[in-house]
Amino acid sequence: MSLLLDNITQLSHEFGGDEYIKAGGGNTSVKDAETLWVKPSGTTLAGLTPEQFVAMDRAKNAEIHAVEIPDDPHELEATVLAMKMDAVLPGSSGRPSVEAPLHDSFDAAYVVHTHPVLVNGMTCARDGGEACLRLFPEYLWVGKLDVGHMLCVRTREAIQEFTEHNGRQPEAVFLKNHGVFVAGDTPDSIRETYRVIMGRLDEEYNASGLTLDLEKGPAPDPAIGEEIARLIRETFETQDANFVATDGPYDVADGKLTPDHIVYMKPHIFEGEPTREALIEFRERYGYSPRVVATDIGVFGFGATENNAALALELAIDGAQVKKLTRAFGGIEYMDRATLEFIDSWEVEAYRRKVAEK
Ligand SMILES: [Zn+2]
Repeated sequence: MSLLLDNITQLSHEFGGDEYIKAGGGNTSVKDAETLWVKPSGTTLAGLTPEQFVAMDRAKNAEIHAVEIPDDPHELEATVLAMKMDAVLPGSSGRPSVEAPLHDSFDAAYVVHTHPVLVNGMTCARDGGEACLRLFPEYLWVGKLDVGHMLCVRTREAIQEFTEHNGRQPEAVFLKNHGVFVAGDTPDSIRETYRVIMGRLDEEYNASGLTLDLEKGPAPDPAIGEEIARLIRETFETQDANFVATDGPYDVADGKLTPDHIVYMKPHIFEGEPTREALIEFRERYGYSPRVVATDIGVFGFGATENNAALALELAIDGAQVKKLTRAFGGIEYMDRATLEFIDSWEVEAYRRKVAEK
């Protein structure tokens, strides 16, 4: 068991860098016949230690897979969350990752789930599905966008269907507007699958002449960011603009790109001149203060803490890179409205944001 935990900790660190995830995104797990050890919610892959993994009873996880789906999505989330907490073995602390039941659906011992920019350039693209079938015929593409427990349910079904057709489980599963799950029985097989994925995507972007470099203007005077922060605090009577992080202007993407972007940027960013009138209009339309403001002279991230402001900006850069790469596959395709509304009201994401603020 300690070897398994040492290995998954090592993998978490290897795939916990900027190339693969931002902030607290992504999750990892390892299992034997009885137990699944999974990353706790609200931790970062790069900072994980073997002791932090949450041990879950796999027999109880199996009950989660069998749960009847109620009509109300929030009721489903509450039920599943209670069952997940109940599956946590004595002596373990922390809340298991949202995607824990999905990790359990892979037979392979190791699972490393990330949101790489290179991968999301494909999963967030209009022709992402076609591209995935062409580039990765040996893996699985899940083109139906789901979040919360329905993501686990639908992906599990897709894995079962794939297994029936191919006589084996997929080593990688790509999720639309989200990222990739990689599963393998050894740490080296995980590394090899990631090498294949990143290598083929890299070639594809190279062929289209696309790099991660953003065409960026010079950074504006920090006083401008402070002034916008003051306007936001006044207009929204909020602490969420206590801090500001500033960058030069570039071609931004909206927040409704992936669940991670929504957590740190909210579904909608503010684009244009942030006058008082325009901010009031934004407030009336969306009901929250913008975490990212993009103007002709700069991109600004806001947060209640310095860390949150920096993270908003970090995700804005990530989103802009994803947007650029989607050009290789027909351009950007955002999440649909129903998914957006659900994520924004989803308690689990709120929990992750709260932990990230600490
Ligand atoms: Zn994810």
